[in-house]
Amino acid sequence: MKQRYLLILLMAAVLISGTVVYADSPIRKISRSEELMDAFFTITVYSDNTEMAETAITEAFNEIKKIESELSVYREDSELARLNREKIIKSPSNDLKINIERSLYFSQLSSGAFDITVQPMLDLYKRSFTETKSAPSAEMTSRELKKVGYGRISINGKEIKIGEDQRITLGGIAKGYAVEKAVEILKQNKITMALVDAGGNMRALGKKPEGAWNVAIADPRDANNYIAIIPLENNAVSTSGDYERYFDDKMKYHHIINPKTGYSATELISVTIVTDNAFDADALSTAVFVLGKERGMRLIESLPGVEGLIITKEKEILSSAGFKVNHN
Ligand code: ADP
Ligand code: MG
Repeated sequence: MKQRYLLILLMAAVLISGTVVYADSPIRKISRSEELMDAFFTITVYSDNTEMAETAITEAFNEIKKIESELSVYREDSELARLNREKIIKSPSNDLKINIERSLYFSQLSSGAFDITVQPMLDLYKRSFTETKSAPSAEMTSRELKKVGYGRISINGKEIKIGEDQRITLGGIAKGYAVEKAVEILKQNKITMALVDAGGNMRALGKKPEGAWNVAIADPRDANNYIAIIPLENNAVSTSGDYERYFDDKMKYHHIINPKTGYSATELISVTIVTDNAFDADALSTAVFVLGKERGMRLIESLPGVEGLIITKEKEILSSAGFKVNHN
């Protein structure tokens, strides 16, 4: 009896000493959120040096703010807004150039499903639903559609030009880019465990002390529910859904446009892409959303290192061969 008591005491001592060692170099979770680029950004860092982590997070947010000031379509003073007004930018920033170049790459890869020149369609829907509370006429839609076409964007040497009637949006790709840049800044600041989230565009740097980051993929028709948990370790996940931003109650008119028709893409309700970086994941989730079930899944399967989960309007769930999920 006494022996057993001793043993328990001994075990308790071991446990306590374990805690003491851990307390010597305490790894803390530090997290900060800010609304930027029309999204909710959260940076979470695990570090044993709170001061260093706070500085790293501040610098990462400063980088995101810089990108927002260049690439936001809604800020009149942004470089992108100026391109949309003046149709030409001489000596563009690197951020603008890289985003447009990568967008053109994804336009080609997706046979035109990804097309940043859809902004006139979004403007038309916004105007029509706020002013008349209804959808625009078919004539108005087809008139605006003439302005859409990535083939009229040109990047020659040191300038970027778009068609005289064109306007572009980087809403389908720039958040992923900002997430990647934020991760780069964290890395430069010696952070090894972090998660950067920009409203469903996420990138993990390393893992958490206890293992992979677990990211829940929301049920597109029930915000309180999720359909899958995805383990992230040094990679990225991005989800595009019709439920995120829409103009009408039925979500028939939402923010992802099929550039071929000018109408919102309606075959799918959610697309999740997992790959090694958030820049590509963001663009691909938008592209696959437009491509639909068959062509979208074919594109995912054709790209090495890219996995995806698609949910159709009929609630059919499809995933690529290598898609990893933690079911519970
Ligand atoms: P979110 O911005 O909610 O994360 P997405 O990444 O899917 O969602 O991007 C949607 C945004 O992409 C739209 O708000 C618009 O700015 C832009 N967009 C819409 N349709 C297209 C398209 N076919 N190709 C490229 N960008 C698009
Ligand atoms: Mg996207």
